[in-house]
Amino acid sequence: MALIVQKYGGTSVGTLDRIRNVAARMKRTRDEGNQVVAVVSAMSGVTDGLIKMARELSENPSERELDVLLATGEQQSIALVTMALHDLGVDAASITGRQAGIFTTGSHTRGRILNMDPSLMRGFLDEGKTLVVAGFQGVTPDGMIHTLGRGGSDLTAIAVAAALKADVCQILTDVDGVYTCDPRIVKNARKLPEISYDEMLEMASSGSKVMQSRSVEFAKKFGVVFEVRSSLNDNPGTLVLEEHPNMENVVIRGVSIERSQARVTITGIPDEPGMSGRILGALGDAEINLDMIISNIAHDGFARHSFTMHSSDLGKAQAALKPLLNELANSKIETEAGIAKLSAVGIGMRSHSGVAATMFKALGDAGINIGMISTSEIKIAVTVDETRIEDAARAVHDAFDLDKAPA
Ligand code: ADP
Ligand code: ASP
Ligand code: MG
Repeated sequence: MALIVQKYGGTSVGTLDRIRNVAARMKRTRDEGNQVVAVVSAMSGVTDGLIKMARELSENPSERELDVLLATGEQQSIALVTMALHDLGVDAASITGRQAGIFTTGSHTRGRILNMDPSLMRGFLDEGKTLVVAGFQGVTPDGMIHTLGRGGSDLTAIAVAAALKADVCQILTDVDGVYTCDPRIVKNARKLPEISYDEMLEMASSGSKVMQSRSVEFAKKFGVVFEVRSSLNDNPGTLVLEEHPNMENVVIRGVSIERSQARVTITGIPDEPGMSGRILGALGDAEINLDMIISNIAHDGFARHSFTMHSSDLGKAQAALKPLLNELANSKIETEAGIAKLSAVGIGMRSHSGVAATMFKALGDAGINIGMISTSEIKIAVTVDETRIEDAARAVHDAFDLDKAPA
């Protein structure tokens, strides 16, 4: 008998009919002779609706109370899915994050998993029950409710699969798998049969929201192989696993886009030790996540720093930098919103040259201007005007023939 962990996202439990479909799918998996543990998200729109309500009520709601509020979304779904299972004659029980033994640390609204105590789930499984676990939530060791960041039910599923040493972990969603680019944007994107953890991680953290990036990190750390596939059909999906030698034959695995980015440029910074640390320190203290960071010395002998961030952090960044810039007589700050980031990802880049040139030429031929550029061992990222980001994704997707299966 295999133990299968399945995760159903918000769209997959978005209506009562969809909930019935999830229950039927779980029953089928069980009838095939498996033990089944499903992790479910809040019904689609519920988490956003709760956040909106909190923000309408209060300009700056307490993050502790936001966690208490947001965790209710998943609690609705687990009860409803379990009721639907009961109606199909399945002996099932709903399980909250606390009951699943998910212990967390870190800040409210972005808790990190500290450890897992799956004993209650084990006991129920031994009694023959099918389990429905609330995604996205855990508790601190002293009992405070934490949520795990947006998309955090993915993390719950991977953590539950690791803790129960599941034989199979399936992330069931509203697409058939991980594609070479978001199929809503690039119509001829191709479903990938497999992708390495590192590639999935780079794609997820550069905008491919099909998986939460922290869940991929967790899967890599604990060696959880998982499959992303559709909750609505039986098509094979995409396996996410440790890389193997054949994977290096493909130069670019996929392309990600991230909208709503902004750039801050500071000029007139004295070229002396400690300045970069002070600038980044001020932004770090304000809890602003920076993405690309570029520094150089201008012809006037002063240093110039540019960085990108989510555009919603722009005001906070300006405020955080003000005291330091007031001290520096020649400094000036410029900001630009309305930019987006395009990233091409593939472990094959390590052993192939000319990748950046192909990408930049494709963008140039499409008349798209490149702003900033950053590279890692397996990623090349550029910023472009947000209005051109979809054209940019299609141009780069075509330039690398990503719609065609590799020979
Ligand atoms: P769930 O509610 O099941 O967690 P999400 O909305 O979080 O689902 O993730 C699925 C969505 O991710 C898809 O509908 C798709 O638009 C988007 N997506 C972005 N990039 C990709 C990609 N490379 N492959 C597949 N889907 C992608
Ligand atoms: N409901 C949460 C969210 O919308 C968690 C999840 O769906 O994975 O972010
Ligand atoms: Mg998701």
